[in-house]
Amino acid sequence: MTTVDRIPFVDLAAAHHAVADEVAAGFAQVLATTSFIGGAPVTEFEREFAAFSGRQHCVGVGNGTDAIELALRALGVGTRPDDEVILPANSFIATAEAVSRAGARPVLVDADETYQLVDPARVAEAITARTRAVIPVHLFGQLAALEQVQEVIGGREIAIVEDAAQAQGATRDGAGIGSAGPAATSFYPGKNLGAYGDAGAALTDDADLATTMRAISCHGSLTKYEHTHLGFNSRLDTLQAVVLRAKLRRLAEANEARRTAAARYDLLLSDAEKSLGIDLGRPQVAPGNVHVWHLYVIRVPERDRVLGRLQAAGIGAGVHYPQPIHRTVPFADHAPRPCPVTDLLAGQILSLPIYPEITDAQQQRVVETLMKALVDNDS
Ligand SMILES: *Cc1c(COP(=O)(O)O)cnc(C)c1O
Repeated sequence: MTTVDRIPFVDLAAAHHAVADEVAAGFAQVLATTSFIGGAPVTEFEREFAAFSGRQHCVGVGNGTDAIELALRALGVGTRPDDEVILPANSFIATAEAVSRAGARPVLVDADETYQLVDPARVAEAITARTRAVIPVHLFGQLAALEQVQEVIGGREIAIVEDAAQAQGATRDGAGIGSAGPAATSFYPGKNLGAYGDAGAALTDDADLATTMRAISCHGSLTKYEHTHLGFNSRLDTLQAVVLRAKLRRLAEANEARRTAAARYDLLLSDAEKSLGIDLGRPQVAPGNVHVWHLYVIRVPERDRVLGRLQAAGIGAGVHYPQPIHRTVPFADHAPRPCPVTDLLAGQILSLPIYPEITDAQQQRVVETLMKALVDNDS
């Protein structure tokens, strides 16, 4: 069997291979000291990741969902009984869970069809006297229209919390994640910057907010046994920080490799579109955005049949997400208005394998298999 035979959705083994020695050496140091919480690896990683993102402060936490909840809590969202937070229905359920956990009501709105990101016009319609925050989600690896969200918020006291779980290293008009408000990110293994287990972080330029977030994430305490805030426990493990530091050094290069892979798909797919005479809904990059291609999402007819064909051919394609948040059981009644774009996308979207190490030959086979699946109506 050649390496082209099975094409995974992400290749964590290849990513590990590149950092294996560095991680082993770092782990050995931590194991020798048995300091498993905090310490130099965590502080260093926080400093390096803040700098990488163009932000002043980073607070490492246990996962991305906690990071969103933490940012909301630190801003005081969820302290009043009717607090509402607006977010796109077209996201992973974690965004809504974090809002509920913070004590506020998630209000789900539709996406725009071109970029599949939160539609600022829909945000404007959903704002009420109870709205405390908006969470633009930088879905698939490009930043949402933050300046337009700011515009619809106007002079109101409504915070922005960026869900940047899929966008480490992405920029918009030169600014990194967390420029419009605190950003929350996830280092789940499959993310662009992935740990070896769960991990996450919150970023901000606001020193006071950073201090509050740090306290809340550590039992409401900055000094041991002095509890000044109602907190919880969500810390970035020292061992995970070792992994993240090693991988962060390679993140810019890995994101560049993803951009090369995305450009290659774009070319292969535009040829496929011409020869098949159909539109494959190739992803569009919004003006001003540098995309980091966490996911490469196209739109196809008969999506489930096509997905089945790709999977049967050993190609790890996926759907992000088959159930938009307003179609899930816990958040079924959380969209005040219909979300026709999100519903339409849910039936058509198909995520092709993308990772820094994907080869030209692998991408060609993905597109060839896709074309075959689209032309012969087996089933
Ligand atoms: C991964 C992800 C999260 C949650 O991150 P966890 O680390 O799994 O808690 C939140 N939002 C989006 C958009 C994600 O992709």
